[in-house]
Formats: sequence, structure tokens, C-alpha cells
Amino acid sequence: MVEGLLQGRGAVVTGAAQGIGLAIARVFCAQGARVVIGDRDADAARAAADTLTAEGGTAVAAGCDVTVPEDVDALVRTCVDAFGALDVFVNNAGITRDATLRKMSLDDFEAVVDVHLKGTWLGLRAASLVMREQGHGAIVNISSLSGKIGLPGQTNYSAAKAGIVGMTKAAAKELGHLGVRVNAVQPGLIRTPMTEAMRPDIWEAKEREVPLQRAGEPSEVANAVLFLASDLSSYITGSVVEVTGGRGM
Ligand code: NAP
Repeated sequence: MVEGLLQGRGAVVTGAAQGIGLAIARVFCAQGARVVIGDRDADAARAAADTLTAEGGTAVAAGCDVTVPEDVDALVRTCVDAFGALDVFVNNAGITRDATLRKMSLDDFEAVVDVHLKGTWLGLRAASLVMREQGHGAIVNISSLSGKIGLPGQTNYSAAKAGIVGMTKAAAKELGHLGVRVNAVQPGLIRTPMTEAMRPDIWEAKEREVPLQRAGEPSEVANAVLFLASDLSSYITGSVVEVTGGRGM
């Protein structure tokens, strides 16, 4: 039997009830990982775990709001208790609250910074505490092209996603000598529930900016995350991998 790239490893993916997170959990399962699906909607997380189990994977669900420290700590414990180790942790949960500066409320700013920046930091902290004791682990943080080039209407989101890059590099420097790698992925325009509400004319204009001339699929982001989570990237830490079809290079 051919072993998967993550055979027998324990992995957590936040915000994995749908979209890119679910695609990551699916490819992890297909590569032999045992996965905890974390999402603030516990029923949706359970449905996703049931789907992956029906597909032949090993997945359990945990309700987790990534902005709540106790939830994130419990998410990590769920993985260790269920699977005996935490080998991979993916900070994926995210929201958008787009508006121009004239219209964006402080609530919109704080909500986005909370989920992306505080949420990722809480995940990084909780996961690294376990991984440093184990002497190994891979953490992957989902940033965005918006954090590299800045997008109008996203001063909150661009700031948070750029912050994730700094956080990734600082953590990679702190944790490298402990055997823990930390990397980031910056997706571009990807077809998910987060983006499907976009006006068709805006969607098409964005697609025209992509050298590969199309939006990406969640599975194409998931494959990059798999690479960074697996031993294929054993000498890569603190890196930022763009999955954008070449947009904003
Ligand atoms: P999505 O379809 O909206 O999925 C995000 C998931 O995260 C949802 O299940 C959501 O639950 C959950 N979530 C939101 N806030 C949470 C919280 N506080 N705690 C736990 N779970 C929470 O979005 P996506 O497109 O797959 O995005 C996944 C990641 O990729 C995000 O970090 C996003 O910023 C990033 N990204 C996406 C794109 C793109 O084009 N789609 C591009 C660049 C980066 P609810 O449904 O209840 O909100």
C-alpha cells in the first residue's frame, strides 16, 4: 500500500466546515491524516466531518470560535486526545466586512482583525505549545493576496492578512530550533461561499487580472497547504506561498 503524505498524523483545520478549509481537510484525509474540523458553527463542522468520514477519511468535529482562547485550547486538546498528537495546525477561519473607509464602522474593522489576527495568534500559540514538546510540527496560516497588494474596500482585511505574514515570520524564527515550521499561503481569487456573493461584473474584472485567466478552486489552495504541512517542505519555514494564478505577483 502506498502511504499518504500525512499518513497517521493528527491535524487541525479551523473554519473547515466549508470553502477552502473543507478542501484542506479533504486533501489531508486523502493523504492519510486524521483531521479535526473546527468551526464556529458546530453543526456545520459535524456535517463536514460526517461527509469526510463517508468518503473514507478519519475526521471529527469541534465547535470552535477562533477568537475565544478557551475554544482554541480545547480544539488542540481534541486533536491530541483523539489522535495522540498534533502534527499539523492550519489557521484558516476567516470573514470579510468590506466597505470603503467612509463607510466602514469600527465594528467592521475590529471583527475582521479579531478573527484573522487574534484568531491566528491564538491558534499559533496553542498549537506551538504542544508541538515544541513533541519536537516537531507544521503550522500553516492562511493570509491573502489582499495582504500583499492591498485592495480597496478592505482596509481591515488587508491589514489583518498582512499582519499574518509578519506573525508567520516571527513565529518561524522563534520555533525553528524546536522543530516547528510555520508558513503562510496567500490565495488570490478563489471560488468559495465567501466570494460567491460578489457582483458578476466585479468577479469578471478580477478574473481578467489573473495571468492564468480564471479564478482558483479551493482544492488548488489545499494542495499548496498540503505541501507546507508535509515533509515535502521539510526545509521551508517562514515562507509565503502565493496561490493566485499569477495575479499581483
Ligand atoms: P468561507 O467559505 O466563508 O469559509 C470560512 C469558514 O470560517 C466558515 O465556515 C466560517 O463560518 C468560518 N469562521 C468564520 N469566523 C470564524 C470564527 N471566528 N471561528 C471559527 N470559524 C469561523 O471562506 P473561504 O473563502 O473558504 O476562506 C477561507 C480562508 O481563506 C479565510 O481565511 C479567507 O480570508 C482566506 N482567503 C479566501 C480567498 C477567497 O477568494 N475565497 C482569498 C484569499 C484568502 P461562518 O460561515 O459561520 O462565517
